[in-house]
Amino acid sequence: MNAPAFLPFTRPEIDAATIADVGAVLASGWITSGPKVQAFEAKLSEIFGGRPVRAFGNGTATMEVALRLAGIGPGDEVITTAITWVATANVIHAVGARAMLVDVDPVTRNIDLAAVEAAIGPRTKAILPVYLSGLPVDMDRLYAIARRHGLRVIEDAAQAIGSRWVGRELRGAIGQLGDLVSFSFQANKNITCAEGGCLVLNDEVEAERAERLRLQGVKRWGLDGMEVEEPGGKFNLTDINAAIGLGQLPHLDAITARRGDLARLYFEAATRHGLRDLGIELPLPTQAAGAITNWHMFQVVLPADRLAGGRAAVMQALKEAGIGTGVHYPALHLFKFYRELGWREGQLPQAERIGRAILTLPLFPAMDDADPDRVGAALARCCKALLT
Ligand SMILES: *Cc1c(COP(=O)(O)O)cnc(C)c1O
Repeated sequence: MNAPAFLPFTRPEIDAATIADVGAVLASGWITSGPKVQAFEAKLSEIFGGRPVRAFGNGTATMEVALRLAGIGPGDEVITTAITWVATANVIHAVGARAMLVDVDPVTRNIDLAAVEAAIGPRTKAILPVYLSGLPVDMDRLYAIARRHGLRVIEDAAQAIGSRWVGRELRGAIGQLGDLVSFSFQANKNITCAEGGCLVLNDEVEAERAERLRLQGVKRWGLDGMEVEEPGGKFNLTDINAAIGLGQLPHLDAITARRGDLARLYFEAATRHGLRDLGIELPLPTQAAGAITNWHMFQVVLPADRLAGGRAAVMQALKEAGIGTGVHYPALHLFKFYRELGWREGQLPQAERIGRAILTLPLFPAMDDADPDRVGAALARCCKALLT
């Protein structure tokens, strides 16, 4: 019998109609930002309750623009999490401000809101939460903190399209609620443009400024009018990428549902193969009091300190079993740039423990129903072999 094909931790799925649409854009004579970007923005706006939306070349540019829209620059502090893709904190430094990193909640692995409140000081201008693996934080509490302290909120919802919050005060899709909300459509995200992003804004004035910051700060009128009042970047999305995103959006609900089904199969596999008894921590099963995840990732936390060779040995054994895994993410305050700013090991103990031990298992809609069981069995087998 042939071994099953290698199972990557994720894989994008582009349907034939989308491939044809991309070809039509390429043949049209207009391949950069144009009608496809506008149509993509309009569809996204529908998903986000009619709020203004602008598309960008990636989800890092969206956050840099969001920080500039919020007036954040040198001398300012922005509070964010240490367990995220480095882009989240890098953009804060890119605009000249300082990332105040706080610890994560060990159960949700998201930013600890009590730690956020404790970190607020006279220089704090904004809170930048991340919805790791798509799981929202407590939005009622987040916005109550922001209101109480007069802070802007820039949501790094890069992973959270299709996620929802059903709280006491706020209810709706992530992106529909709140202040500035940033999404990424990078290749691994639930909805992809290959590369892309979008920013959900509060009003048309803010949206027009976002448009200018997206393209060199240029304002145009008439046939030949042009002015630059503040410099912007080169952050526009192309129609080629927008055509990919437009082909994905109609599948959003089906993608989210399929991911939920696969997550359920993972929990069943975890029970069948005794993962908890091996000291492996699972994600929150369904929702944390109102937070409904889109299952962007299914992540376990390994008993890494008790495993010979740690997480890397588990990843190697799974790779040999034909199973791809990922690390999302190492605690970012331990990277050289952040250590040189004064961050130290021991300051954020939960982030450090999770950063060493978190492991992303395969999860994407085209997986077979049998795959979560195969992954769970292989994970149990190799952890048993490596436990000391
Ligand atoms: C993907 C991602 C980003 C960056 O998005 P890009 O489109 O790759 O620039 C930022 N933050 C988080 C949490 C992400 O997952």
